Amino acid sequence: MSDRHLKGIGVSAGIGVGPAVVVRWAMPDVPHRVVPRSQVEKEVRRLRAAVRDVKRFLQAMKAKTEDRAGLDEARIFDAQILMLEDKEFLAAVANLIRENHLTAEKAYEFKTLEVRDTQPSVVVAKELSPALTVELDREHVVGLVSEEGTRTSHAAILAHSIGIPAVFGVAGAIERIEPGTMLVMDGTRGTVLLDPTPHEIAEARALEQRRRELASQLEEVVDLPAVTVDGLRIVLRGNVDLPDEISAARQHGAEGVGLLRTEFLITGHSTLPTEDEQAGYFRRVAEAFPGHPVVVRTYDLGGDKLPLQFRAPSEANPQLGWRAIRVCLDRPELFRTQVRAALRAAKHGDVWLMAPLVTRLEELDRTRALVAEEATRLAREGVPAATSLPVGVMVETPAAAVIADRLAAEADFLSVGTNDLTQYTLVVDRGNARLADRFTPHDPSVLRLLKQVADAARAAGKPASVCGEMASEPLSAFLLIGLGYETLSVAPPALPLVKWTVRQVSAARARAVAAEALAARTADDVLDLLRLALAEAVDLKLLDHHARLPGARRAASLNA
Ligand code: PEP
Ligand code: MG
Repeated sequence: MSDRHLKGIGVSAGIGVGPAVVVRWAMPDVPHRVVPRSQVEKEVRRLRAAVRDVKRFLQAMKAKTEDRAGLDEARIFDAQILMLEDKEFLAAVANLIRENHLTAEKAYEFKTLEVRDTQPSVVVAKELSPALTVELDREHVVGLVSEEGTRTSHAAILAHSIGIPAVFGVAGAIERIEPGTMLVMDGTRGTVLLDPTPHEIAEARALEQRRRELASQLEEVVDLPAVTVDGLRIVLRGNVDLPDEISAARQHGAEGVGLLRTEFLITGHSTLPTEDEQAGYFRRVAEAFPGHPVVVRTYDLGGDKLPLQFRAPSEANPQLGWRAIRVCLDRPELFRTQVRAALRAAKHGDVWLMAPLVTRLEELDRTRALVAEEATRLAREGVPAATSLPVGVMVETPAAAVIADRLAAEADFLSVGTNDLTQYTLVVDRGNARLADRFTPHDPSVLRLLKQVADAARAAGKPASVCGEMASEPLSAFLLIGLGYETLSVAPPALPLVKWTVRQVSAARARAVAAEALAARTADDVLDLLRLALAEAVDLKLLDHHARLPGARRAASLNA
């Protein structure tokens, strides 16, 4: 790579062009590193006092300038004073302090990144937490570049949901990119170009335009059924992380929501959502997809996604720690509120409940017991609610995959979270850019587990789906069909591409390739097999152009 070219991992498609705003400090992924929990409210008071002081100072400066140079000159202070009076802006800064334990200065700086001038900019950071990513305003931020993070880190999943192009895992970005440097970043290719010439900017814009045209061609399939050429009907649902995605999922023809992530109802807020708020949200989603299920994933809190009220002392290994269903079962008051909300929404639509990070049968037993208790209680209280709802399990740990037969016998459905399943099977932190090459969901070990889960569900006569990022990528979707999955839950922007692919492939061919993949030695071999097989049916060049497929770089070097 030349001095002007940086390479990373494209995690959210699209091209962003703009000057860099650089966040030089590291995001506090361990919250206590910056402002201890006990000091958070004091820090918010410090922010308010500073705002009052600065406002007084600016008003005095304005008066002095007016005396000396007249009102017109003095008006230059108005914009700054207005910003300090903007309640929404200040509330957002206070939220950053409370949620991310930033100091008042850093929280203020982060928020002003978006409004420094009216020119949309590209945020360059060491790392981005999920909470900070949801705070970004897509009108002002046209791209994200981060040194840390990978395709399956939660900040990346959110950037994709929000629709901001993003390149993560860009080593040395902070050192190489001076604030104000003009950038062209390509979230599909995973590239960042510094100081582009006008010609290069025009080329990037033309490429984006071509991709948009392709995307609208692909959208022609959204109203057609997802059926393979040999007649296998595949159900394509949407993953919904933030409320904004409901309409994107609908527009792209999602047949329900296969993964409704609920923890982002909390991220960026300093209070927990009430039962009424959650019931209203779940109902709204369910009513947006009449006749189709909406799978509410119970809070997957932990690590970088734990609200202030529940923060426990920091853990040495948060990914192996107090996460997901463990938090829910240890904090029944939090869990019961969510279960009651789901039961109430289930009165108005086909709402299912799904527990994340299950490792043992007792977790399912306790979840079911709690659902039954709350259903009885709601009935006793005379609150309109369903008397029961389907309760399923996310298979995203090797433990769950190994006991998939037992889980399938007892749960109403299974859904495989390949992001975590890959992380825990290969022991590769899903958010660690240094290990990104080793995060290989196509590894034969992961594929064996995937096959085992699909077979177990089929034997028990229970539905099984895949809702990890793999399902959103066409090469892998083809493989998953071959492994026996007939329901995939996909990031809404990827739905047309996945459906377009499904409609051109044969399930019989997918099964044959899946059998070869299971017998392959390495993840690279699996990708080669998949590329070869998919190329028989689909224009791979077009696919690669639209969404960087895994193995594309290797395939290019083999062909060279
Ligand atoms: C997964 O782990 O694959 C999954 C879908 O859940 P999340 O990405 O929210 O952990
Ligand atoms: Mg997961």
